[in-house]
Parts: sequence; C-alpha cells; structure tokens
Amino acid sequence: MSAHEAGALHGEYGGHGPEWLRLPADINDLLPQLWSQTVSRDATGALTVGGISVNALAEEFGTPAYIVDETDFRARLNAFRDAFAASFGKTGGDDNGPGSQVYYAGKSFLCKAVARWVEESGLSLDVCTGGELAVALAAGFPPHRLALHGNNKSYDELAQALQVGVGKIVLDSTTEIARLTALATELGVKPAVMIRTKVGVEAHTHEYIATAHEDQKFGLSLDASVKAARRILTAGVLDLRGLHSHIGSQIFDTTGFEVAVRRLLEIQSGLAEEFATTLPELGLGGGFGMAYTSQDDPKAPTELAAELRDIVERECKVLEIPLPAVTVEPGRAIAGPSTFTLYQVGTVKAVDLGSGQVRSYVSVDGGMSDNLRPALYNASYSATMASRLSGAPAILGRVAGKHCEAGDIVVKDEFLPGDIAPGDLVAVPGTGAYCRSMASNYNHVPRPPVVAVANEEARVIVRRETVDDMLSLDVG
Ligand SMILES: *Cc1c(COP(=O)(O)O)cnc(C)c1O
Repeated sequence: MSAHEAGALHGEYGGHGPEWLRLPADINDLLPQLWSQTVSRDATGALTVGGISVNALAEEFGTPAYIVDETDFRARLNAFRDAFAASFGKTGGDDNGPGSQVYYAGKSFLCKAVARWVEESGLSLDVCTGGELAVALAAGFPPHRLALHGNNKSYDELAQALQVGVGKIVLDSTTEIARLTALATELGVKPAVMIRTKVGVEAHTHEYIATAHEDQKFGLSLDASVKAARRILTAGVLDLRGLHSHIGSQIFDTTGFEVAVRRLLEIQSGLAEEFATTLPELGLGGGFGMAYTSQDDPKAPTELAAELRDIVERECKVLEIPLPAVTVEPGRAIAGPSTFTLYQVGTVKAVDLGSGQVRSYVSVDGGMSDNLRPALYNASYSATMASRLSGAPAILGRVAGKHCEAGDIVVKDEFLPGDIAPGDLVAVPGTGAYCRSMASNYNHVPRPPVVAVANEEARVIVRRETVDDMLSLDVG
C-alpha cells in the first residue's frame, strides 16, 4: 500500500470497501431485507414508501427526516405477538402453552403514535425512565401492560409506577428492592416484580461468551439473585413472578439463550421448592437482530419463538418443572427496519486514497446528531440514492454528516452512483431504532421530524425541532 497521511478514519480496507461489501449488479437495486414492506421504486425511479415518493416527502416535510412505514411497523408488532402466542400461548395462556407477553422495548423509539400502535396490536410496552413512562401515559397506554426497567430508578419513578399501577417492575439492585418494598408497604399494594439477573452470557450477533460476565452495571449476579429472591419471598410484600435476563443486542443465534434459560430456571425451580411456591414467568429480554447491511440475515419471529420454546421446554424437562410463561422485549427488530432517514446531499468530494483508489465523501444535511450509532458503536449502515435512477458506474462512497467531527459518518462504506451530486436525496434504511431516541443537538442542529406514511398518506408524528425550540431552553 502506498504511503498516505492517516486521517481519523483512513482506509483500512483500501479503496474496495470491506470484504462483505459487494458491488451490486445494478446500483439502483434495493436489497429487500434492508427496506420496509412498502418501499419500492416508482415509474420515475424515485424511492416510494406507502405509495408516496421521497421527492414529495422531502418537498412537504424537508430533510433530514425519519420516514416510518407505519404498515411495516404494525406488521412487525403483530408478527412478534403471533409468533410467541403460537409457541408459548397467548398472554394468560391457552392450548399452545402457559403464555407469552411481548413487550415492545420503548427505548428503541417511543412517541405517542408508536405507543398507540403498540396498544392496538395488543402488545405490552417496556419503559425504563419516568420520561418514557410519561410518553406511554400521555398516549393513554394501559398501565397494567407496562413494565418498568432501569438500573437506577428513582424513588419518584418507583412511586409513580405504583400510583399509576404499572403491570411489572424489573428490579435491578438490593437498594431498589428495599426502596420498592418500603413504598409498596406504605401504599398498601403488592406489585408484580422480576429480578434482573446477570446470567453470565453475553451475546453479540453470531457469537456468545459464556464466561461469567459480572463486570457491568445491570442486574444481580446469580448468587445475589437467589439471596434477593429469598428476601422478597420471605417478606411477602412484592409479588415475585420470576427472573429476568437480557443477554445482548443484535443477536442472530438463539444458542446464547440456552445457558441463560438453564441458569435462570435452575434458580427458579430451587426457589419454588424451597418456598413451596411457583415462579410462573421467565424473562428473556430483547436484542433480536435486524438487517442494517447485506451482511445481516435475521431470523423471522416465528423461527425465534419456536427455537426459544424448544430451549425452554428442554430445560423444564430436565428440571421436571412446568413450562413458565415467557416474556420477551424486542425493540430494534420491530422499530429498526420500519424506518429510513431521508437526507439531501450538500457536497461531494473525491478523496484520493493512492494507488488510483478514490473515495467519494458525500456530505448530507444531518449526521451524528440524528444517528449516533456509527460514532458510538462503529455500527454499519447502507444507503441508496433515493430521488432518481442513475446509469452512471458505481463509486465507493462514504456518507458523512455536517458535524464538526471526523467521526461524523452515517454510512462508512457503500457503493453509490458515480453521478451523485448536491441536491440528490439519499435514504439510509434501518434507522427506526436508537436513532431518533438517541438524537442530540450537537452543533445546535435541530432534531429531524418523524413522519409516518401509510396508504398514500403521510403525517408528522414528532415534529421537527426548530432553532427557537433550542433557544427557548437558553435562558441567558
Ligand atoms: C435494550 C433492551 C431491550 C431491547 O433491545 P433491542 O436490541 O432493541 O431488542 C430489551 N430489554 C432490555 C432489558 C433492554 O435493556
């Protein structure tokens, strides 16, 4: 490789992009797994969603904007609900089993419209702060279908949860157990709780590490969970439903759940015997994977649910205990694929990488303020030119933002049409989860709106922030 000065993100792959990145046969093609249900190209070649062209959306709502395919979002909610009901039984149980409760993980993206979609699908909703709880309540979400998570719930958050009657509280520390026990005694209520347990499994994508992974802030160790459960069962103030674990994110393989299920159920069966009681639920958390790039091949909810049923059933046979009701908390697998971010190109800059290799930096009108994940986790995304078709040969591009950081990259490596130019629209799929919810005002850039599209209608569900919104906080 010829010598060149290293920038913050100089090309570790040379000019060809990473190994997995394939030059498409046609640069205008859409890879189906990356796009929501109703996305296609119309007769003019522009991307359309819910029957509306991105050119019309950009004209009406401006860019950047998060465009949610409501049909797709609702279909994914329903698919998780149906898959888990088929494998474990509906909430409350039926012929298929003792029951399942699917919580949409609100932290991935929550606003009042989304809370209503979740409500209408019959799913439950998990929130992890007073702020997320406030959104759910403002949407009229039934409190008994809410679960409250979080590793540092304040006294006020716990008190509010009890006052409004949230359905379940997932306890994360002994401090919190004492705090909730005192509050419940004072209010004369018996809230349903689970204990967040560190099962010693960490799952990422296709790998999982089954060494004790204790050194993190969430949950109680296996031993501490047993002690905490004994205290709760002895005191009799809280209604302990079972143990809960969340083993990772962007998981494509259910083998990581085998160890988690075994360790949780061993404890649950021991406690049930010791206290002559039943712990009727098992919390398996979320983290089910989605496709951000052509590398990712997520399992369908039906397949996931069936594999989890096999795992839970096998462990129950070994322990000779009845099948528990199972809770899961998908966030990204529901919200993520439903949304793309629509940007407008501002500048295109060809950068010579040496050896005749050129990388085109395509700068768009957003960046790390609307999608922090590439900077935070080195996350990969994909992009397509959305406003028109191109017959130009493909070039290796990098979609950059407008912030004052070299790491402000939206899509690190993607083939784009060679004639991409200022004014063109670029769409980045898979941005429904952890993009708007993690958005910031870095560089005083106002946060983009969320526009929901369905059946040839588009409406703003979260409006664009304005400079005046930001200035209104600055009281001088
Ligand atoms: C983050 C989180 C989830 C959701 O994770 P996804 O990757 O969005 O599915 C579910 N449960 C808990 C406890 C979490 O912390």
